[in-house]
Amino acid sequence: MTSPDATHSDAIQTQARLPVLPPHVRVGYAVIGLGELTEEQLYPAFHLSGQSRLCALVTGNREKALEQAELLGLRPQDVYDYDHFEELKDRPDVQAVFIVLPNSLHREYTERAARIGKHVLCEKPLSVSVADAEAMVLACKAAGVLLMTAYRIQYTPHHQAARELIQGGTLGKVKMMAAIDVQTEPNEGQWRLKRDLAGGGSLLDVGLYCLNTARYLSGEEPYEVFAYTHSTPGDERFGEVEESVSFTLRFPSGLISSNFCSYGTSKHRSLRVLGEKGNLLLDPAFDYTSLRLMVDTETEVRETLIRETDQFALELDHFSGCVLSGEAPFTPGEEGVQDQRIMEAIYRSAREGRPVQLERLEGRDLFRGKKPAQIERERA
Ligand code: NDP
Repeated sequence: MTSPDATHSDAIQTQARLPVLPPHVRVGYAVIGLGELTEEQLYPAFHLSGQSRLCALVTGNREKALEQAELLGLRPQDVYDYDHFEELKDRPDVQAVFIVLPNSLHREYTERAARIGKHVLCEKPLSVSVADAEAMVLACKAAGVLLMTAYRIQYTPHHQAARELIQGGTLGKVKMMAAIDVQTEPNEGQWRLKRDLAGGGSLLDVGLYCLNTARYLSGEEPYEVFAYTHSTPGDERFGEVEESVSFTLRFPSGLISSNFCSYGTSKHRSLRVLGEKGNLLLDPAFDYTSLRLMVDTETEVRETLIRETDQFALELDHFSGCVLSGEAPFTPGEEGVQDQRIMEAIYRSAREGRPVQLERLEGRDLFRGKKPAQIERERA
């Protein structure tokens, strides 16, 4: 792609348009699992969300949690351990939980939260199997609480702009998407390398971004997958889960999506979309900040400048808005279940060395709720 500097840039301002609510009417959350994502991304996001407030912490490490609580302005009685999670039932200020635990624990805490009447925002992947993910959807339905898969990318302005360019026809008929999400983490001993906690390797962790983004940008569902997995012989990190996966998805419109994810390659996260009349590049595509969107069509080459907004705050705002209105989230549990189905097909294809068929589904956004209301863009 030609350098965007060669032509012109245009600017898009993105703003959260949901009203900033007074603290006492914001949706109150308990965060479950105080690891890296919670501490580094979610605490700041709660601070930025005008619809949400953090009321309680659930942890296996009380000492760490008490320190964090003090910094967050929470009281010692706002810290719960896993065994006493159900005591949150008596906290009317806590309407929702945010599950930020290792993947295989997502089902248990979703079911426990549903049983005490709390709405559930659950980190990706929704779970470690189709069966678990479907059970989570059912548990929340039966309890009358909302379940949202925390797919921050679908609330991210750069990806929303890319989706509009693709679905609005700017690139013409889209033929190909190529996504890469690779990194060298995790280190030995991390739960991400243990099958019983992670459920799989790089596919469930970073490959899911490639898969979910292809579905989100196109709005379509794949009907066939073909995949290879690879783990470096002798690398002890990959005794239980795979290092790398290469997978191809075929969509009803003819679109082919080609993807590579790995735990064994230095960090790179990009997405290229090729259409009859133009192409676009998101690079980096899946990072928390500093995303870049470049568009190259028959008439212009430009970088679309989009004002950065905290991805996790946007996601939180959306879910809180749903809790307040009772509407289904844009990325409900069903959206996570569908990715789980496709990931199981990807593993099966790699195991059996042949393409695997999925149910052929026509139509767009079949597993999504109403488009998020909070994002409006204005040309500067
Ligand atoms: P961490 O390992 O940093 O934290 C996980 C936390 O879970 C731990 O700190 C611990 O909290 C709790 N925990 C409970 N049981 C266990 C156990 N058996 N082993 C390890 N931890 C346990 O993980 P992350 O925060 O990076 O990931 C958590 C979830 O968030 C995962 O599902 C992951 O896929 C997802 N994620 C999503 C991202 C996104 O961009 N949307 C980015 C990163 C992660 P405590 O000490 O309080 O008990």
